[in-house]
Amino acid sequence: MKTIQDYIRTIPDFPHKGIMFRDVTTLFGDPRGFRIAINQLLHPYAGQPIDKVVGLEARGFILGGAIAHQLSVGFVPIRKKGKLPGTTIEQSYTLEYGEAIVEVHDDALQPGEKILLVDDLLATGGTAEAGIKLIERMGAEVVGCAFIIDLPDLGGRAKLEKLGMDVHALCQFE
Ligand code: IMP
Repeated sequence: MKTIQDYIRTIPDFPHKGIMFRDVTTLFGDPRGFRIAINQLLHPYAGQPIDKVVGLEARGFILGGAIAHQLSVGFVPIRKKGKLPGTTIEQSYTLEYGEAIVEVHDDALQPGEKILLVDDLLATGGTAEAGIKLIERMGAEVVGCAFIIDLPDLGGRAKLEKLGMDVHALCQFE
């Protein structure tokens, strides 16, 4: 039986020399791989009240859409600045070189809603932290942060757990 790791392809030197890019498109493209990933991402949240799934651009949309459909709840995208058509609130965060901004429609979440945040990979945790801040600024509550891959050496899990988050990842790469 193949593990989640077996479905993930590693591409060296993308997008820069020295980076080992973990490519989940091979997981998404396999009918068993995709099904297993969605089932395992959902597993800890069975029976828990979740009002909406929030996905981080771009692979978090693919996972988050499938998870929201499975839970019969709505899906909300957090996007890079400039992509959403309506009124937004934005959050900046630090990248290795420079800064980035993500945003969400300002009416997409309601105060008190319980949110599952989803992305493909947790590295430094900067992207997920920006998403958490946006969700919390709207008065909603993050009840879980679910990822396919955790890169523990980059400290993202520790950063999110320090914020009091429940972090769920299906596999780790060094
Ligand atoms: P962080 O903000 O440092 O945790 O980086 C996580 C974000 O970068 C996520 O949105 C990922 O999709 C993306 N990312 C970083 N490295 C990889 C990789 O090796 N494969 C796929 N996505 C990655």
